[in-house]
Parts: sequence; C-alpha cells; structure tokens
Amino acid sequence: MADYDVIVIGGGPAGYTAAIRCAQLGLRTACIDRWQRPDGGPALGGTCLNVGCIPSKALLDSSELYRLAREGLGEHGIRVEGVRLDLKRMMARKEAIVRRLTEGIAALFEANGIEHLHGTGRLLSPKRVELAPATGGEARVLSCEHVILAPGSEPIELEVAPVDGERIVDSSGALAFPTVPKRLGIIGAGVIGLELGSVWRRLGAEEVVLLEAQETFLPACDHRIAQEAFRRFTAQGLDIRLGARVTGTRAGARQVTVRYEDGTGSHELRVDRLIVAVGRRPATDGLVAPECELVLDERGAVHVDELCRTSQPGVWAIGDAVRGPMLAHKGAEEGICVAEQIGAGRSDPVDLGTVPAVIYTHPEIAWVGATEQALKAEGVAFRIGTFPFTASGRAQALGQTEGLVKVIADAATDMLLGVHVIGPWASELIAEAVVAMELGASSEDLARIVHAHPTLSEAVHEAAMSVERRAIHFHVRR
Ligand code: FAD
Ligand code: NAD
Repeated sequence: MADYDVIVIGGGPAGYTAAIRCAQLGLRTACIDRWQRPDGGPALGGTCLNVGCIPSKALLDSSELYRLAREGLGEHGIRVEGVRLDLKRMMARKEAIVRRLTEGIAALFEANGIEHLHGTGRLLSPKRVELAPATGGEARVLSCEHVILAPGSEPIELEVAPVDGERIVDSSGALAFPTVPKRLGIIGAGVIGLELGSVWRRLGAEEVVLLEAQETFLPACDHRIAQEAFRRFTAQGLDIRLGARVTGTRAGARQVTVRYEDGTGSHELRVDRLIVAVGRRPATDGLVAPECELVLDERGAVHVDELCRTSQPGVWAIGDAVRGPMLAHKGAEEGICVAEQIGAGRSDPVDLGTVPAVIYTHPEIAWVGATEQALKAEGVAFRIGTFPFTASGRAQALGQTEGLVKVIADAATDMLLGVHVIGPWASELIAEAVVAMELGASSEDLARIVHAHPTLSEAVHEAAMSVERRAIHFHVRR
C-alpha cells in the first residue's frame, strides 16, 4: 500500500484547502510545506497568511484607523487630540494575527488527521515524492496515489533594483519596515504597490512615488473605475508616474537613488526605501525532477486543464502556480475542486470568469466579470447602469461618498456581464454580484431583488436599475 492516498506540496490557501477537503473525504493525506517562521519553526498558510493577504490587510485596517483618528473624525463632531503612532504595537498586532491564523491551520490539520511534513517536496514521478526535511538530514521518498502541486508564487526580481532586504525590499520587507520612511519609492503601481503605498502614506510618509512602466493605470480594471481611482489616490498623495522605466538604482546606507526614464526624459529620484512590486511568478524551480516529464509553460506555470489536471495522470496543480489570477480564493476553490475529483468523483471546474478581484485601498476597488473596454474589443453589445455613492444614504451617514457602482449587461439578453465597484466596502458588496453572475442573473433580476435600507448594497441595486434608466435616487438625463 502507498504511504498516502494524497500528498499535497505547498501549504498555502490552495494546498491547505485541498488537504483539508481530501481528509474530510476520508483520504489519507500529507501536506509538505517548507515555510519557516523567523524563529525557524514551521508555519502553514503560505504567502497569504504569512506575508500576503492577512498581514497586508491588518496594516491597511490599522493605518486607515490612524488616518481617521488624525483627520477623519472631525466631521462627525468627534474631537481627537494628541493622536500618536505606535508602529511597534501595530506591527506586533499584525504578527499576532498571523500567528493565530497560521496556528489555526495547524490545528485544523490535526483535527482532520493530516500529516504536516515540514520540508521541501519534489515530484519524482506521478506516485513518488521526495521530502527533504527542513531540519536537515537525509531526504526520503514517499509513495502516494495522487500528488497535488500547490507551490504558490514568489516576487519577480528586477535586475536594475536588486532586493537587499534593507533599503530595497519586496512586499515582505515592506510589511515590516521598522520606521515610517519619509520618502518611499515603489516600482510598480499594481495591487501591492497601491495597497502598501497607501499603508505607508497613511502612517506618515511625506512622499510616496510609484513608478509604473505601463502608460495605462490599472489596465485590468474597468477604465471608468481606474480613472476614478487615479484621481482619488493622487488626491491622497500617491504620486503615480506612468510610462516610467527604471534604468538603475544605487542603495546607500540611508538612501536609494533611482534612475528612470519616461516620455519627458531621464530622471533621478532619492528615497529612503524602495519597494519592488512588479508582479509574481510561479514558484516551480526545482519542484519537479527532470526525468518526470511534467509540462510547464514559458512562465514556469504548471500546465493544467479546466479541472487542474496536469500532463501526468494522478498529478494535479492548483493556485498561483497555474494559469488564472494569482488570488487566494481562486487557489482555495481549485483545491476543493481537485479534492472532490479524487475523493468524491465530482468534476466541477472553477469558473475563472466569476472570480472576484479586490484592491483594498481607500476607497476599495472590486470587480467581477468583463470590463467595458474588453467587451468593446470583443464587439459585444452591452448596456451600462451606474450609481454614485454620493446618492447613497448609508454612504452619506458613513461619510464615505467616494466612488460608484457600474453594472454591465448584455444588450440582447440582459445577462450580467460585469459589475465594478469603487467605494466603501466594495470588497463585501461584490459578493452579491458574484452570486448573481454565477446563477446567470440578468440586470433586471438584480434590480427587482429587495435590498435593505439604508445599506451600501442599495447602490448595487440602483446601478442595476440604472441599466433601464430607472434608478430612483439619481437622475440621468435620457
Ligand atoms: P502560496 O500561498 O504562495 O503557498 C505556497 C506554499 O508552498 C508556501 O508555503 C511555500 O513555502 C510552499 N512551497 C513552495 N514550494 C515548495 C516545495 N517544493 N516544497 C514544500 N513547500 C513548498 N490574494 C488575495 O486573494 N487577496 C489578497 O488580499 C491578497 N493580498 C496579497 C498581499 C501580498 C503582499 C501578496 C504578496 C499577495 C497577496 N495575495 C492576495 C495573493 C495571495 O497571497 C496568493 O494568491 C496566494 O497565497 C496563493 O496561494 P497558493 O496556495 O497558491 O500559494
Ligand atoms: P501586479 O501585476 O498587480 O502589478 C505589478 C505592476 O508592476 C504592473 O502594473 C506592471 O505594469 C508593473 N511593472 C512591471 N514591471 C515593471 C518595471 N520594470 N517597472 C515599473 N513597473 C513595472 O503585481 P503585484 O502588485 O506585484 O502583485 C502580485 C500579485 O499578487 C498580483 O497579481 C495579485 O494577484 C496578488 N495580490 C493580490 C492582492 C489582492 O487581491 N488585493 C493584493 C496583493 C497582491
């Protein structure tokens, strides 16, 4: 008998979810994960829990509260004086949240009878995996019926800006600055650049400059939403420079000099710290023995079909290491999809067309489905409804009236094609649109569902009504 029914390589949201679902289905499951806490001990949860989604959101929430306490409560008639930042405490809180959640996954593993093997896994052949223990010692070979590859991703490095962990850092370093940098540079105005740039700006960085290579800001977002975001972020003091190509950096003891070129010529920028946030790539180096002929694409992503089957029978791959958006919830659903194929004989692919995306800035940005520009490029006929948060009673009460909801529906069938939100709690509001799209709803369905008053979700309702030009609380000239 094989050592295990299933071996999962990688204990991030994709891998740990797969392992838990496999164990629930009665499969003898082991999860090999090599993540090490700063003290050398194991920590499940991968990038997401240790240096990604969770710590970044802890700092985004803390820094937004700090900003509110300093400048946002006056209009509510609340006078606050002497607000001071305790960065050490804020960081300790973030670390405590990470520790609680990673230990929570370890407890779930124990409760489900999953063996956590701390070390590096390597696929030797479809039913054989080599484990090199994190504590050193000899590698051993484990046998199994199925292997699920979930090694995640790692930051893309730039030759012109080598990360030294001190002055030039990646996203992990930027989650742990010991002091607030006065002048912060960021290469890449994508999701990480905007979220972490927002954190440090709110905490007091006087200058935050984002150097973005592309001419278009947030090209994956609907243009109208991206335009609104650019305006808001610029007003908050994020200095976003588009079409900027970094040509070199020099890190000194206290400063980094960044040289870059744009349409107007060559420039030099001096900052205290520089974050490199130019995307991530699949972490598949050394994952597969050369004699195991697993097909990877040119980016190093494991090639899979819609059911996460690789080119080798019994070998599956999920999460950031395969095609599709690099998002925790997408990887976790793929984990369930694979576990249920192995353990329950169910083949329900994850619908990549309805995976929601969120940027946790202020205001938040969230969307699902197609953008207006993508539909135009495809020649699809559509109708649009929008509703601004200024016209929402709840947004007024909250004092958060920035942004809008945009609903896009098929011109012929009225089926929802995309929903885009920039505004308060966009991250939560988008769930309704995801459900609607998954169930094949029309904009009229959304418009005829009763929404509680006064809630932010009424803005989604009214945007759907606005597709037919019948929003109640906002007048659109016909
Ligand atoms: P990972 O989480 O990267 O986990 C892979 C695990 O496998 C790691 O523990 C790694 O050490 C281990 N591993 C790799 N190779 C081996 C091997 N050979 N042997 C043993 N172990 C191995 N996504 C969101 O959806 N929402 C967010 O708000 C969000 N915020 C983010 C913020 C930041 C700063 C970053 C960097 C990312 C963020 N992401 C967010 C992305 C999210 O973290 C990833 O999409 C998600 O973690 C991918 O999950 P995964 O399980 O595929 O891989
Ligand atoms: P990203 O793809 O969102 O943004 C990278 C940006 O860097 C792009 O705008 C790109 O044009 C730019 N860029 C690339 N090379 C450059 C160069 N040489 N000079 C200047 N700009 C350059 O990637 P990211 O922000 O690094 O985040 C990585 C991944 O992590 C994302 O794809 C996302 O899936 C995930 N993530 C998600 C969340 C979330 O869900 N809220 C948060 C953080 C990270």
